[in-house]
Amino acid sequence: MHITAEHVIKFIERVAATIKAQRDYLTQLDSAIGDSDHGVNLDRGFTTVLTKLPGVADKDIGAILKTVGTTLVSTVGGASGPLYGTAFLRAGMATGDCFELGATDVIIALDAALEGIQSRGKSTRGEKTMIDAIGPGIDALKAANAASEDFVSALRKSVAACEVGMRATIPMLATKGRASYLGERSIGHQDPGATSAFLMAQAMLDVVEGM
Ligand code: ADP
Ligand code: MG
Repeated sequence: MHITAEHVIKFIERVAATIKAQRDYLTQLDSAIGDSDHGVNLDRGFTTVLTKLPGVADKDIGAILKTVGTTLVSTVGGASGPLYGTAFLRAGMATGDCFELGATDVIIALDAALEGIQSRGKSTRGEKTMIDAIGPGIDALKAANAASEDFVSALRKSVAACEVGMRATIPMLATKGRASYLGERSIGHQDPGATSAFLMAQAMLDVVEGM
């Protein structure tokens, strides 16, 4: 099975719809350990992204992802704008001028996205950030792909691992981003960025399952 440019457009549209639907929830999570703007930030960014999609509808996957990345960097603000923006930009650079991706290409793109977030955020796993959902999600996708599972079932396992990673941020002490200012008081709350990352993974699965 292959991911086409059309699937990528559908994925971005689905992410935008999910973020809009979960905007208040994400903002509520950010009000516990941040400044109550995560849902609002991402919704602003993806609403602008939607206006850019018609302009790239016939373009290659790299061009689509890079447009998403630059739009997020310039519209989201906060920590998550540059981080998600870099992730989409790096994924776009990794996919280049392809119109179709196989499972290995998707893994390469996701690895590039995670590397981009980590180098921009100077962050690693276990610091109570989006990385704690994304990292385990990519690990699970790689493991299932290496075991020759079909892409849909590999992606299901990946989303399940993202969800476990998201929940695992609850007992973590935040050492990066705004939540780190709270020190010990950051413990006991689910990270907003890990939650939006899980929602994006779920959106990807929804699109692939709908194929
Ligand atoms: P801000 O914290 O500037 O208000 P947002 O509320 O939009 O930005 O995003 C907060 C989320 O960004 C956090 O929940 C966390 O997942 C993520 N984050 C913050 N700093 C980093 C970092 N250095 N590396 C990775 N993720 C980070
Ligand atoms: Mg915030």
